[in-house]
Amino acid sequence: DVTATKGNEFEDYFLKRELLMGIYEKGFERPSPIQEESIPIALTGSDILARAKNGTGKTAAFCIPALEKIDQDKNAIQVVILVPTRELALQTSQVCKELGKHLKIQKGICILKDCSMLIMDEADKLLSPEFQPSIEQLIRYLPSNRQGITQFYAFVEERQKVHCLNTLFSKLQINQSIIFCNSVNRVELLAKKITELGYSCFYIHAKMLQDHRNRVFHDFRNGACRNLVCTDLFTRGIDIQAVNVVINFDFPKNAETYLHRVGRSGRFGHLGLAVNLITYEDRFNLYRIEQELGTEIKPIPPQIDQAIY
Ligand code: ADP
Ligand code: MG
Repeated sequence: DVTATKGNEFEDYFLKRELLMGIYEKGFERPSPIQEESIPIALTGSDILARAKNGTGKTAAFCIPALEKIDQDKNAIQVVILVPTRELALQTSQVCKELGKHLKIQKGICILKDCSMLIMDEADKLLSPEFQPSIEQLIRYLPSNRQGITQFYAFVEERQKVHCLNTLFSKLQINQSIIFCNSVNRVELLAKKITELGYSCFYIHAKMLQDHRNRVFHDFRNGACRNLVCTDLFTRGIDIQAVNVVINFDFPKNAETYLHRVGRSGRFGHLGLAVNLITYEDRFNLYRIEQELGTEIKPIPPQIDQAIY
């Protein structure tokens, strides 16, 4: 029943005084059923998927917890609300402004690294193929704990890299992996070494004929082989859901390349793991890219919980 309430009051949620004032001034006397169901859960910081009929107050159901959880003293965007049309964006921002009119919410900045909440209204529409590329792009700008990809690094010497990779192969539960090198030569050499170690492996690089590349790519996608060694040629837009591990055998030179590589795992809703082999020379780059992306790349632990990828 979309109209029967549990008899909760907005006071029951211990909201900020200023927010409560906004709610009452908007003329809401008590929460609607969808608000009663979702506000307390949203306030705990849990993920929510909620559905209710038209006109049942879903907008306030997400605006109220979002406004409550905002830290007013933090000068950064903390919540992103996605809606499928401009009109709805205007309307929703209006609701936020009204409900939050007594809160001092800052405006005019667009740094998303401190953003810890992503709301999708009309989510069925937003998750359709039409919107998927823009949404994925936006999600990439959010902190990595939104994406599900866990990132590790291991300090190694150049000559230990193959040994280290061998250890990773034996310890990780790899569904499929993509292993990045910084040059065509290194791709071929590494693919040869991996095969010698007894693991199945394909490779792709820019100096191969397009026909051949397509065939390898097609076979890899179909699961003909577990590991693929490649250069950055392969990164953009490639979507193979079975890839749960990305290994930067050679660390990339810049943040953009890093993002494109790492984003090859953890595709839409799947978890993923990225492991970076870091030589002494890469150190500075590692810290810089971490800073630039506002992401955390942690030292690799001796055991990795399989549940995270
Ligand atoms: P939905 O997104 O579920 O279709 P809306 O969020 O657009 O619905 O809300 C529909 C109408 O209900 C709006 O005019 C809104 O101001 C009003 N409304 C929402 N919550 C309450 C409430 N607790 N009490 C009274 N009116 C409410
Ligand atoms: Mg709505």
